[in-house]
Amino acid sequence: MRQSHLFTKTRKSAPKDEVSKNAQLLIRAGYIHKEMAGVYSYLPLGLRVLTRIEQVIREEMDAIGGQETKMATLHPSENWKQTGGWDNVDVLFKLMSRTEKEYALGQSEEEIVTPIGQEYASSYKDLPVAIYQIGQKYRDELRAKSGIMRGREFGMKDMYSFHETQDDFDRFYGIVKEAYFKVYSRCGLDAKVTEASGGAFSEKFSYEFMVLTDAGEDDIVYCEKCTHCANVEVSSQKEGDTCPKCSKGELKSAKAAEVGNVFDLGQKYPKAFNFTFKTNDGTEQYPVMGCYGIGTTRLMGTVVEVLSDDKGIVWPKEIAPYRVHLIGITGGNKDVAAEADKLYDHLQENGIEVLYDDRDARAGEKFADSELIGIPTRIVVSEKTMQEGGVEVVERTTGTAAFIQDSGIIEYFQK
Ligand SMILES: [Zn+2]
Repeated sequence: MRQSHLFTKTRKSAPKDEVSKNAQLLIRAGYIHKEMAGVYSYLPLGLRVLTRIEQVIREEMDAIGGQETKMATLHPSENWKQTGGWDNVDVLFKLMSRTEKEYALGQSEEEIVTPIGQEYASSYKDLPVAIYQIGQKYRDELRAKSGIMRGREFGMKDMYSFHETQDDFDRFYGIVKEAYFKVYSRCGLDAKVTEASGGAFSEKFSYEFMVLTDAGEDDIVYCEKCTHCANVEVSSQKEGDTCPKCSKGELKSAKAAEVGNVFDLGQKYPKAFNFTFKTNDGTEQYPVMGCYGIGTTRLMGTVVEVLSDDKGIVWPKEIAPYRVHLIGITGGNKDVAAEADKLYDHLQENGIEVLYDDRDARAGEKFADSELIGIPTRIVVSEKTMQEGGVEVVERTTGTAAFIQDSGIIEYFQK
């Protein structure tokens, strides 16, 4: 992509009412556009990042047997009345049509997926099954001050599973947990998992996946010696306590952002829709249901909060909008511009995705924009590098610069 063709531009400051770091940086760099509190549009660079995050999640859900769907987001009110959610879920957006028919905007899909599961799973032979989607969700939030980490409209991967027994749900939860850790690791985050009460969703309990960041809304305690982690809101554990899991470490407290959750829903929704299956011995039984969420836009916001520095965003390679930011410092020299053009084509021919700053702008402006946008590797072509037969390569994460001969450029990205 030639930056001279990109319709978005960087800006010096974010809107005055935008208080969150993630949205400030993403707006300044041209990734998102703020429509109102808690609602953002995703612009070309932002959509590329979001699509990559979705693809990471898709790959990990497919790998554990999840089957992707696209469920409706405009829901019949009847389904929500059947589960009691119509009156009990305070964040549910409700709409009325001109014929005075009522609808809900999806904030979760139990009311839709349970009847779907019911239609196709009538026997124990049809179970277990895990159904997921990646799409838009809506929540009537009273406050939306966390940028894209808490939106009134937001992106979400939500998966739902149906099982013959509680044991089988517990087994599958263990598999999902490992898949979730792979997702976070591929997105450059170090996550912890905590057990918590399930709130309005659940008869039983939930698991929350947490990433340490001061931008988070949760207070947690965690052990540095093992994986133990607990949400302070639901636990009597506090900083300085001996870890209840390993008995070796001392608990530390921190702010954390929830980047995923798993709800053990028990038989609540199957009971609400009278969804039963025939067991091996011929009796009818309600399946045990699980719900597994990862907020895709929230994950993107968390990555920005955790990995940015004072110059701008720092994207991990797997979810960066482009692999390389190629910068031509031509100073009006046509030979340098031609050399940068040639390298742009050469990188793309080798499958390396490039944002090419071919704009007629000062070097300082190009470098500052590059730091703000946060693409992992910057390549600089200038009169000086041309004379030396190569390019300057700078890694955004470490700031380390190296001179690479023209002949070694592709190899640099393949290693
Ligand atoms: Zn411990």
